[in-house]
Amino acid sequence: MFENLSERLDSAIKQLKGEGRINEINIATTVKEIRRALVDADVNYKIAKEFTDKVKEKATGEKVITSVSPGQLMVKIVKDELAELMGGKEVELDFSTKPTIILIAGLQGSGKTTFSGKLANFLKNKKSLRPLLVAADIYRPAAMDQLQVLGEQVKVPVFAEPENKNAVSIVQNAIAHAKANGNNVIIIDTAGRLAVDEVMMREVADIKAAINPQEILFVVDSMTGQDAVNTAKAFNDRLDFTGVVLTKLDGDTRGGAALSIRYVVDKPIKFVSMGEKLDTLDVFYPERMAQRILG
Ligand code: GDP
Repeated sequence: MFENLSERLDSAIKQLKGEGRINEINIATTVKEIRRALVDADVNYKIAKEFTDKVKEKATGEKVITSVSPGQLMVKIVKDELAELMGGKEVELDFSTKPTIILIAGLQGSGKTTFSGKLANFLKNKKSLRPLLVAADIYRPAAMDQLQVLGEQVKVPVFAEPENKNAVSIVQNAIAHAKANGNNVIIIDTAGRLAVDEVMMREVADIKAAINPQEILFVVDSMTGQDAVNTAKAFNDRLDFTGVVLTKLDGDTRGGAALSIRYVVDKPIKFVSMGEKLDTLDVFYPERMAQRILG
């Protein structure tokens, strides 16, 4: 993950290592390389430009000028800015209302159902909660079966009503079921389409309006780069979601989605999913991710 970006940033900053001091000329060269590296990692040019303008401003600041190690300073500045770009501090799920309702939305194939299973596993094992998984995809019976299988694997009950073709009603029944059975967190896997469409958006918006979830997590495949960012914007405009889940970070992703989603939608990335195994889910820590990128 991010190998290319890491290498490019590293080599951009390495140029400074032979320099005795940081100065306007070597800052300008380095910053230009950093900007190119970000654009090649699929970060939108405007975001990359704003990013490097900030780096430049910090680097030319008085404190830095007197420094003896330009390379290390540049690493620190870029690392801090990367963490900031990805949201700064981590943001946890909101469990202030019980049962906590978490609505999962995203395109088909983004990894929604897999993530629902992972999240159930995470909440059961790491937060000692009693989750209920809800299959609210009324279009694809296979999605319902897939959730049942995942539920069995993580030993979390799954609520499904295969005959019911009304997603809002399934979800309402599921909430009543959870309350009656002592489930204190409800994870709702909704239907996804291959592209953003009005029917899908209306359905998720209707579910949201009917149940008022504490969390709406938008799941997106990080391998899709700028498309991921555009889809996030479309979902956020309609749903005003509470957080982003980046999936397939174990793949050959260039990094653009992870780096720019926060900037574009102003919502935190809450989890990253890094594989098909059910325990490969991590809370997203912007600082650790920045550290990883800069090695
Ligand atoms: P949904 O249509 O959004 O529910 O997507 P699925 O959960 O069915 O996932 C689509 C495909 O992506 C499946 O083959 C999953 O095994 C795979 N997948 C999901 N999450 C990850 C991940 O984090 N990493 C990798 N490598 N594959 C994933």
